[in-house]
Amino acid sequence: MQPDFDVAIIGGGPGGSTMASYLAAAGLTVGVFESEMFPRPHVGESLVPATTPVLTEIGVMDQIDAAGFAKKYGAAWTSAESRNVPHNGFAGLDHDWSAEVMFVERDQPGVERDYTYHVDRSKFDLILLKHAETLGANVFSGARVLKVDFDSDPDIVTLNCRFGPRTVDFTARMVVDASGRQTTLGRQLKFKVPDPVFNQYAIHSWFEGLDRSALSVAAEKTDYIYVHFLPIEDTWVWQIPITDTITSVGVVTQKSRIAASGKDREQHFWDFVASRPELFDALKQSERVKPFKTEGDYSYSMKQICGDRFVLIGDAARFVDPIFSSGVSVALNSARLAAKDIIAAHEAGDFSRERFAPFESKLRRAVTNWCEFISIYYRLNVLFTAFVQDPRYRIDVLKMLQGDFYDDEEPKALQAMREIVTAVENDPEHLWHPYLGTIRALNTPTF
Ligand SMILES: Cc1cc2nc3c(=O)[nH]c(=O)nc-3n(C[C@H](O)[C@H](O)[C@H](O)COP(=O)(O)OP(=O)(O)OC[C@H]3O[C@@H](n4cnc5c(N)ncnc54)[C@H](O)[C@@H]3O)c2cc1C
Repeated sequence: MQPDFDVAIIGGGPGGSTMASYLAAAGLTVGVFESEMFPRPHVGESLVPATTPVLTEIGVMDQIDAAGFAKKYGAAWTSAESRNVPHNGFAGLDHDWSAEVMFVERDQPGVERDYTYHVDRSKFDLILLKHAETLGANVFSGARVLKVDFDSDPDIVTLNCRFGPRTVDFTARMVVDASGRQTTLGRQLKFKVPDPVFNQYAIHSWFEGLDRSALSVAAEKTDYIYVHFLPIEDTWVWQIPITDTITSVGVVTQKSRIAASGKDREQHFWDFVASRPELFDALKQSERVKPFKTEGDYSYSMKQICGDRFVLIGDAARFVDPIFSSGVSVALNSARLAAKDIIAAHEAGDFSRERFAPFESKLRRAVTNWCEFISIYYRLNVLFTAFVQDPRYRIDVLKMLQGDFYDDEEPKALQAMREIVTAVENDPEHLWHPYLGTIRALNTPTF
């Protein structure tokens, strides 16, 4: 039987559309099934430089450059406190608790510029999906994939899709799940493992006319992404410039804190932000231009990310905590890595699991590094500040913050951080022992 497509892709977000671009450019027939009608809003607005080589390779960088997105030259973190933390050999800690990095400080392979972008995802995702269509992908909008059948034919997968009131079946040689946190295939195949401890929750909106300098580290650095820590454990605020005048602001906290209080989401947002009065005042003087939106249940991993005739990419494969803006980069780079294996599988006429082993091992390594870095960050926050400000480690930390994880061995700073955390955990007398956080992010992928 001749299937409708070589590859069917569930979801037309950054992961799905990038995958579609790679495959269509290589001459494969591709069907992309997207449940929404684009443009549609989406959380995840700040990119890291590791997106640039992928956007360039699929040929869409010129359109992204021309779209007028806000340029992102760096990232900064501020804290409510300037605690006198014992420096423990890290001189930088003597003077400040905030930290910042500029991408210009480190050359990154395949990245010829010292900036990336903050993006309005409705526009960014539309550009990427249209680009895939231009390259030959067949895009079906308003098409929700309900189920994937692997059993009725050993060489074909069948996607059962809902278009409004109708359901229609499409066939392909294999399926890529890029359905984001919906994790369509992961749920169907029972691969999904929720994180029992690290269960974050976010409330966010856009604000017009926010004075971004209210909490910035320097007047010329207001176009950075800011992570403002609140004096509440594991709770922080993002500040992402969307246009010259619009700023995305979101509070991230443990879900249990919200559930316990019984208040509405807007009240929560303001209650949290009030713990940083300068930010609260600046926000109150600006105008909210979108309804508040919440994001929950986003901490999970998968037991498996590929198998016979399927691959999972982006958030459908693994959610990485958003603190360092890694999500779109993981979506794009997982598409890049998996597309290579899928094209080779197509040439060989063999879509069995072994064909996707290179993708699986590279993604595992990258995501393991991302997750461990983030986990250490939550576990011993002071260590991150110490490492960023220490010339011995700064460039290596920047490499991680750039998302430059895919083609290299483990960054040296990560190894050093791991050793210090272990030492601090094992020694109750250690000067930093009192600064250990209570929650631990799931730091290794289960796949
Ligand atoms: C609070 C928070 C803050 C974040 N901040 C950042 C950030 O600053 N920077 C960053 O890079 N990332 C951030 N992220 C992560 C980012 O949102 C995701 O990693 C990224 O969008 C993943 O891309 P994707 O293509 O895998 O999935 P998505 O972008 O979610 O796309 C999936 C698409 O699949 C469609 N779909 C779902 N189910 C089906 C179905 N059954 N059939 C058909 N279509 C379907 C959806 O409509 C959607 O369009 C954040 C995430 C959260 C929760």
